[in-house]
Amino acid sequence: MPPAGTSTNDAEPLISVNNLTKHFPVQKGLLLRKDLGMVHAVDNVTLDVPKNASYGLVGESGCGKTTLGRLLLRVEIPTSGNVYFRGKDIFRLNASESREYRQAVQTVFQDPFSSLSPRMQIWETVIEPLLVNTNFSRKDLKQKAADLLKRVGLPPERLNSYPHLFSGGQRQRIAIARALSSSPEFLVLDEPVSALDVSIRAQIMNLLKELQSEFGLTMVTISHDLAGLRYMSDMTAVMYLGQIVERGPADQVYNNPLHPYTKVLLSSVPVAFAEDRARREEIPVSGEVPSPLNPPSGCRFNPRCPFAMPICSQETPEPKEVEPGQVVSCHLY
Ligand code: SF4
Repeated sequence: MPPAGTSTNDAEPLISVNNLTKHFPVQKGLLLRKDLGMVHAVDNVTLDVPKNASYGLVGESGCGKTTLGRLLLRVEIPTSGNVYFRGKDIFRLNASESREYRQAVQTVFQDPFSSLSPRMQIWETVIEPLLVNTNFSRKDLKQKAADLLKRVGLPPERLNSYPHLFSGGQRQRIAIARALSSSPEFLVLDEPVSALDVSIRAQIMNLLKELQSEFGLTMVTISHDLAGLRYMSDMTAVMYLGQIVERGPADQVYNNPLHPYTKVLLSSVPVAFAEDRARREEIPVSGEVPSPLNPPSGCRFNPRCPFAMPICSQETPEPKEVEPGQVVSCHLY
């Protein structure tokens, strides 16, 4: 049974992540495999993504955000916990429900150079998600690909071209057209602009925002760039070593960060206005991110946190709603 708050009612979240955990075994040796331990990629993550919301998931590389995205896409199977889509656990779907989920959920990857097949013409790439379950004629499919290319800002006359003839930004537009072809409800975007030239990142972010509102999409965007996510998202969750340490409305998390780690992340973001600079607290942080193979006990940020107290290494802080909608896991609150 789904937990409270995961019915199919539109007012409820489209996606509910409930105590989701993913550990990967690490082994040594080719023949006599020796267990070295478990990488704690995602640990006990709970998160609701409201319908039509744009949710940003931010953290340094290796914090588990991509694994969380892969779990939402069912590319990974969790060690424990659940993900509910319209109230149904996506890891317990029957064959026809699985097909429906595959159409309802699409993704755009970081690297537009490796995510498109060099052997497929653009129109074939764009309609690929439709081929799972479709009765469209070839002519209809080509027309649909042409319409989608036009919508993402590419000339439909280039339907028969191959990916190597397009720039990075154009390829990402093709990947977005492909993600839209099955009329999805939910998009998982994994660092959708970070491999692109700085000059075209804003164009792709604008396009994604327009498409979200035009098609009523629910989006989860994974990124290490808190400033970019603020622009793209209504809600933000901050991840550190496999756990969510703070989540809430994006503007609130950006303007009034509460968790020390969120403050550290924000202090590395350039600030345009002197007033904002004066308001922003600089948090000195020491050391490197510990290994996810052996995460610290208690709060995982405790070896680096300048506010750490004795309790911080002994007890894991529970998530607490400190401001309306802003949930923080820290013993300071
Ligand atoms: Fe710092 Fe303790 Fe809060 Fe963790 S729980 S962020 S160590 S104050």
